[in-house]
Amino acid sequence: MDGQLPRYHGLRVLQVLRTHALTPRMRRLVLGGPEIEGIKDGPNLKLLIPPEGLPAPKWPLQGADGRPLWPEAPERPIVRTYSVRRLDRAKGELFVDFVLHGAGGVAAGFAARAVPGDMVGIGGPGGRDLPLGDFHLLAGDQSGLPSIAAILERLPANAVGAAFIEVPDAAEELDLVRPAGVRLVYLHRAGAAAGTTTLLQDAVTSMPWPITGRVCAWVAAESASARLLRTYLRDTRHLPPRDLVVVGYWKRGMSENAYQQAHDHDRDADYHRAAAEEHAA
Ligand SMILES: Cc1cc2nc3c(=O)[nH]c(=O)nc-3n(C[C@H](O)[C@H](O)[C@H](O)COP(=O)(O)OP(=O)(O)OC[C@H]3O[C@@H](n4cnc5c(N)ncnc54)[C@H](O)[C@@H]3O)c2cc1C
Repeated sequence: MDGQLPRYHGLRVLQVLRTHALTPRMRRLVLGGPEIEGIKDGPNLKLLIPPEGLPAPKWPLQGADGRPLWPEAPERPIVRTYSVRRLDRAKGELFVDFVLHGAGGVAAGFAARAVPGDMVGIGGPGGRDLPLGDFHLLAGDQSGLPSIAAILERLPANAVGAAFIEVPDAAEELDLVRPAGVRLVYLHRAGAAAGTTTLLQDAVTSMPWPITGRVCAWVAAESASARLLRTYLRDTRHLPPRDLVVVGYWKRGMSENAYQQAHDHDRDADYHRAAAEEHAA
């Protein structure tokens, strides 16, 4: 690969500034550094995680056709999708909250080991936000908790709605800042493995439906739950696509790479669009 080529234009390299254990299974990395300057708003990030043990991380370069030229394995960074939990421009800090899911993931492992000074590449942010409606329905498992927490913080003080979040047990509950009119319900898996319960579907489908007004829904959960809830909200509750954001955040038994190859969804489109918009700006 030509060492003279610049780094891919859509990529920032940030450092871990500090870490926080939010719960036994959720770890926050606060990222920052000079390259955070000018970062745009948006709910989702692509993280480029350097493989463990490299003397220095290698990043994608800017190809002549505008596309990234990736380092070959074993130096190639691993790409994973995460949520912007908070972006504090004044302090130059970006918060990303990781589930330490214990299933051997690259990103979960990186988060568990991270120490100040570690580097991570960032693509985006990009992706769709929840539109404002008369009632906001949020449903997610623990991987969706950071995105739901960020939405709850952003909703206007008079917003109304309900948020259902599935976590392993009470030790994983976080007291989320939210409008007084938004009900927060934690659902405990109580020993069941992640991605194996119907807790979210049961909670959402048994919720008394708001009779009037525009309902906007955000679902961020394991693929099977996300699919069932999409079908319910679209076909039974007739939510139009503009009021519905349903994303399978992970799939049981598959790495993100395998899930992405097996399913057709817009996660990469979000990332490349954000990078292209940023370059054009
Ligand atoms: C738009 C978007 C935003 C997201 N935001 C966040 C976020 O803010 N915080 C967050 O923690 N996750 C978030 N996720 C989910 C995250 O991208 C996946 O969980 C991802 O697979 C984790 O990568 P990994 O390298 O740890 O595991 P992978 O290498 O991808 O997978 C390894 C194994 O772990 C399993 N696995 C992956 N995730 C989980 C999980 N959550 N619980 C149990 N088993 C799992 C897989 O099924 C696989 O068997 C988001 C996903 C999307 C699409």
